[in-house]
Amino acid sequence: MDFALSPQHEEIRRTVRDFAEKRIAPAADEMERKGEFPTEIIREAASLGLLGVPYPEEIGGTGLDSLAYAITVEELSRVSGSVGIIVSAHTSLGCNPIWLAGTDEQKERYLRPMASGEVIGAYGLTEPGAGSDSRGTRTRAHRDGEDWILNGGKRFITNAGVAGTYIVTAVMAMLYNYRGFHSPMVDLCVYASLAITLVSGFHYIYHAARIIQP
Ligand SMILES: Cc1cc2nc3c(=O)[nH]c(=O)nc-3n(C[C@H](O)[C@H](O)[C@H](O)COP(=O)(O)OP(=O)(O)OC[C@H]3O[C@@H](n4cnc5c(N)ncnc54)[C@H](O)[C@@H]3O)c2cc1C
Repeated sequence: MDFALSPQHEEIRRTVRDFAEKRIAPAADEMERKGEFPTEIIREAASLGLLGVPYPEEIGGTGLDSLAYAITVEELSRVSGSVGIIVSAHTSLGCNPIWLAGTDEQKERYLRPMASGEVIGAYGLTEPGAGSDSRGTRTRAHRDGEDWILNGGKRFITNAGVAGTYIVTAVMAMLYNYRGFHSPMVDLCVYASLAITLVSGFHYIYHAARIIQP
């Protein structure tokens, strides 16, 4: 099997490496020392199409494949792990749930500005009691008329504070199965992923409820 990169992928690597070495590397140490979000660098990355690499051009993306995306993240991370994860959390965690599960209207409204790099995306799963084991999720979501009410707290969320759209995982309901008098066991949790945007207030985009059986 030939693992050599195609000329197009080699060109992508050269382009991203050039940007990373000329623009990110000189600023990387100071960025880490100050703990600042590299707004200008991300803006420039967006103008190169690096914030929507695997999404079609019709939805604002760059229209390349997964390998091109992997090369992009590899080259960014080679000079700055921070920039690498800003771009990958945005692309894989922020954009992808909407790409996979959003309606056409939701893609137009929320994915397009993210894939073009106009809006940064983030994904909120981790909580003090939920990381590797997402069944520990305590953030609750319930419907209140036309709105969704989210109650809970998240931590370690890449791009938090600068993102315009957040995918947030939450528990919608817990169904208890009492096994014996004194030992209530949580047997079923119904989970939801809610995509919310902070650009124009909190809007419910979709909920992909799934049953998780511990
Ligand atoms: C750079 C960075 C960016 C992040 N960005 C995001 C983000 O954008 N959104 C988000 O939601 N979260 C984010 N996180 C959080 C990340 O998803 C969690 O840290 C991760 O899921 C682990 O969860 P935890 O920290 O609660 O650790 P825990 O799940 O409590 O794990 C602690 C330790 O226990 C071990 N362990 C866990 N389960 C088992 C098991 N069953 N068997 C054996 N060992 C086990 C783990 O390997 C680890 O060593 C980010 C984390 C980092 C470091």
